[in-house]
Amino acid sequence: MLPRERFLAALKGEESDQPPLAHVSALTTVGLQEMTGCYMPEVHHDPEKLVKLLAANHEILGFDAVTFIINYFNEPAALRCEINWGSERDLPAVASHPWLKPEDAFIPEDLLDRKPIQVYLKALRIAKEKYGDRVAVLGKVMGPFSMVLAMHGVKETLIDMVREPDKIKHFINVATDILIECANAQFDVGIDALAIGEGGAGGHTMSPRMHEKFLLEAHRRMMRGIKGPTIMHICGDITPRLNLLSEIGLTCFNFDWMIKPKVMKELSKGKFRVMGNINTTDLMVEGPEVIEKQVFENLEAGVDIISPGCAISPTCPNSNLRAMLKAIKKWVKKKRGS
Ligand SMILES: [Zn+2]
Repeated sequence: MLPRERFLAALKGEESDQPPLAHVSALTTVGLQEMTGCYMPEVHHDPEKLVKLLAANHEILGFDAVTFIINYFNEPAALRCEINWGSERDLPAVASHPWLKPEDAFIPEDLLDRKPIQVYLKALRIAKEKYGDRVAVLGKVMGPFSMVLAMHGVKETLIDMVREPDKIKHFINVATDILIECANAQFDVGIDALAIGEGGAGGHTMSPRMHEKFLLEAHRRMMRGIKGPTIMHICGDITPRLNLLSEIGLTCFNFDWMIKPKVMKELSKGKFRVMGNINTTDLMVEGPEVIEKQVFENLEAGVDIISPGCAISPTCPNSNLRAMLKAIKKWVKKKRGS
């Protein structure tokens, strides 16, 4: 099986020759930047270099599916959020929050022509042309709640969820419309599946009741509006809210290392596929034997796709990232032998 076929089969819940390795959160290393000569932050503005750098995730690290966008804040950047573009070792971060009042949030007519969106659409087009016959090419947008945190500010959003809930609902609605438009533009250039980075809605940010009140309908509308398979990532242990995610029509969920693979698999059964959950701190500081153990634990639990549990630090050694594919192969060999 080609890597792309392997990944798409697993995403549909079908049998494949070996469990695929994929990532949806940001994944590059200082080592890969040195090997390819393509460095952050320049790659965030240069589609050719972005693709060359991320193709190394397949060519050097052995990923079957690669998300050809590193920067998580492209939509806010297109909406005039100031961005701190980071360095070789640091991913971009937002530096201003332009949505203050309800009327600040609207869909600009030229949204898809704006530079950050044009950069990623061009990158995805190049990735599809150069690698699309063998590697699954994934796109990426933010989740609507995470986008509101960027556009309105984290503290402001959490306070206004209590003080001005209608304003936050309006922001979430506009963000949802914007993200659907950006997501479908990515499917129009040929991506195989879309990552949705809803990291900001993670862990203890909100109770199940708040999630239901603010996010359930927006997520449902987003999945309905997007014309292709979706993989959502939310950080932290969100097991009390998984029943809400199972109602939105998600294809796959990328779960954090804080949720045990066995628990995740049981809670998701028949509702969506699961992808996870190698500990990102361990990928940075531990050795390949620790990574192997975690890959085995996921595979024994029946996790469909192996991936890191979140965005990785660019300081991760490549050897730890390569250890994931090695462990998958070892597990398959062991299973066939037994
Ligand atoms: Zn995360």
